[in-house]
Amino acid sequence: MIGKSMQELIALLESNAVTSVEIVQAFLQEMNHKRELNAYITVLDDEALQQAQQSDKRRKAEKPLSQFDGIPIAIKDNICTQGILTTCASGILKNFIPPYNATAYQKLLNAGFIVLGKTNLDEFAMGSTTETSFFGPTKNPVDITKVPGGSSGGSAAAVKACCAPVALGSDTGGSIRQPASLCGVVGIKPTYGRVSRYGLVAFASSLDQIGTFANTVKDAADVLAVISGVDRCDATSIAMPVDFGSDTITGTIKGLRIGVPREYFNGVDNQIVQAVETVIKQLELKGAIVHTISLQYTDYAVPIYYLIATAEASSNLGRYDGVRYGYRSPNIAKLKDLYTKTRQEGFGKEVKRRIILGTFALSSGYYDAYYLKALKGRRLIIDDFNKAFEECDCIVAPVTTTTAFGIGEKIADPLALYMADILTISANLAGIPGMSVPVAEDTHGLPIGVQLMARHFNEMVMLNVAQAIEDSIGH
Ligand code: GLN
Repeated sequence: MIGKSMQELIALLESNAVTSVEIVQAFLQEMNHKRELNAYITVLDDEALQQAQQSDKRRKAEKPLSQFDGIPIAIKDNICTQGILTTCASGILKNFIPPYNATAYQKLLNAGFIVLGKTNLDEFAMGSTTETSFFGPTKNPVDITKVPGGSSGGSAAAVKACCAPVALGSDTGGSIRQPASLCGVVGIKPTYGRVSRYGLVAFASSLDQIGTFANTVKDAADVLAVISGVDRCDATSIAMPVDFGSDTITGTIKGLRIGVPREYFNGVDNQIVQAVETVIKQLELKGAIVHTISLQYTDYAVPIYYLIATAEASSNLGRYDGVRYGYRSPNIAKLKDLYTKTRQEGFGKEVKRRIILGTFALSSGYYDAYYLKALKGRRLIIDDFNKAFEECDCIVAPVTTTTAFGIGEKIADPLALYMADILTISANLAGIPGMSVPVAEDTHGLPIGVQLMARHFNEMVMLNVAQAIEDSIGH
């Protein structure tokens, strides 16, 4: 069972060849063997087995909740799960048990998915390595001396290591696509508004999206279809038809126009460039029409993102005050001291850095010079994509500038880490869908992914290209 795709597991369940209990047991065993990866913050063994028993009963009575009934899944620990610890990998939320479910999670439960546990991440999803986690870093299953990427590194590692067949993550500036690329799995960040963020702990609200991880394009698409849709609890969610389930993905791309942005190859590792070029050739062989495009403001994406994301974070994280929820510094008499001490003790270094940066960018006298300017820059990036999508239907580019690097190698240099996000953050600034598909390995055996991006709500186009790549590369 371990190593099978979700579609294969569904077929086994439907033919009564296995039970959900057996599947869940197999994954729990694998998780137990691979504890050193630190992919999970919370493992739900007893709960998962109980749920699996219920699922088996439903299947026996021929009343499954959906075709997914009994399939295990891992959930990033910034997605609220009622009655289950949701820490955001932060000291300030280390004991937080949400009284409600995130909509995306509730939809999984309604379909009969079984949660195996909550996965590790960078604290409040701020980072690209999981090294800022209060619970220590996750290790890359391909090479445990390397980072798995982040912030959804726990989810990516869990899927790669067969500690879950599929998983949820969140992507504010690349947090699904980058770890998917570094671990060698499929990761999708849908269009902004596609999936409700109700119950996703907010980092930067104009950028955050929930998305999926899997070993195959179709599995990642199917889970995404389950969690998609408008939600009255999230005013930014949009009612659009969910038109991209696995049964509609053909991998046919004849006549499709592929754009290759020249700016996305600057400073990128040679082996990654070569891998992407190979993919482009394969797509051409399958009948796609490939041409070079320009996304001229790409170089500005990092400063724009790190002003907007930190500004929004400084506001969103104001709620952790030691009064309403989360950690409270003990024995403090004055309210102001309570705020200060709680935040001083509860937040990690990177989170504090971002709150300070964001507060500065929003403060009077600097607002126009930094935050407002960043918003204007964001408009230019959106225009850049709108223009590009007049010339092409799907953009193909690298995801990252390097393959997985060593744990501890870059964490002392935040600017270097921020710069490394250059290829993923523009899709969030523009709100368009993006994904990473594993396509190759470098000479050290480390995974290389290719990034696809499409127009708003054109996930289907992107998924067809992804399927074409999976079919021809067979990775
Ligand atoms: N690496 C980026 C950051 O640190 C993106 C994180 C994310 O997408 N959550 O902000």
